Amino acid sequence: MTTAHTVEQVPVTTLANGHRLELTVHTLRGASEGPRMVMFGGVHGDEPMGAETVRRLVAAIDPAALRGTVVLVPVANPYAHAALTRNTPLDGMNLNRTFPGDRGGSVTEQLAAVLCEILTGADYFIDYHSGGNLASVDYAYIHDEGAEMSKAYGCRVLYAGTPYPGSATGWALTHGIACMVSELGGGGQRIDEYLARGLDGTLNVLRTLSMLPGEPVAPPADQVVVGTLSTLRPTMGGTMLCEYGVDRIGERVAKGTVLARIVHPATSEELEVLTAPYEPSILVLGRESMTNVAPGDYGLMVADGSTATPAV
Ligand SMILES: [Zn+2]
Repeated sequence: MTTAHTVEQVPVTTLANGHRLELTVHTLRGASEGPRMVMFGGVHGDEPMGAETVRRLVAAIDPAALRGTVVLVPVANPYAHAALTRNTPLDGMNLNRTFPGDRGGSVTEQLAAVLCEILTGADYFIDYHSGGNLASVDYAYIHDEGAEMSKAYGCRVLYAGTPYPGSATGWALTHGIACMVSELGGGGQRIDEYLARGLDGTLNVLRTLSMLPGEPVAPPADQVVVGTLSTLRPTMGGTMLCEYGVDRIGERVAKGTVLARIVHPATSEELEVLTAPYEPSILVLGRESMTNVAPGDYGLMVADGSTATPAV
């Protein structure tokens, strides 16, 4: 095989204003035959950390050292990325609930359909997500198919959750593609640290799969798999004052501990208190000490520490 880095603009559709919607797709072809790995960033537009991680991976993976092929789509939902919104602004749909999509459907449905075409034939898939505009997160999904990827990625908390219906990984798993979802960083917090972890973790996954040379780094000794992960969604919006902020992610907290209070932004009335639901609760999504919050937002996320088992 001849090593190569090719860049394609893959057409999706034409918008009402005549703009052509395209996806930038990088293909890194390695020096020898091997597996096909696909990576998506920016499926959710308010998670530019994932997009930036994939963009940097294009330069970080040396085709001359690579066995097999890596296909990278840094910005999988370009209009959501531009607007910093979770859903596509043009049709209001959540791309990661829309797979396998529809070539005859709306913008998001067509995006999903094109992304399925890119995924078809892959052996491995990594989908890079993060917290949204106001939150940082730190865990990875682990599935039976691709468990070695999740462990090698290096997050301390691995979540053995069922993929959401309509998600990219849900589609991939039913099509025989081993995969993982990275949930790392977000909210503009500790950007360089999370980017470095995403890059290092991915290169370690590629070494673990023998797609890159070198001895993989062992996962952290305290890495655990959890079976239950809950999002604490405030029923009322307001000003969210976190007692356990982004710097406490990964900590184990006793059940009943007050994690955050929602207060009225003008009257100071306390509207809601978010407490740790499990004994212990492991904080996996956190915010700064003060953020806006809307009803139903991803307020905080906690894993049920009583379900934690060593990953090894
Ligand atoms: Zn996401």
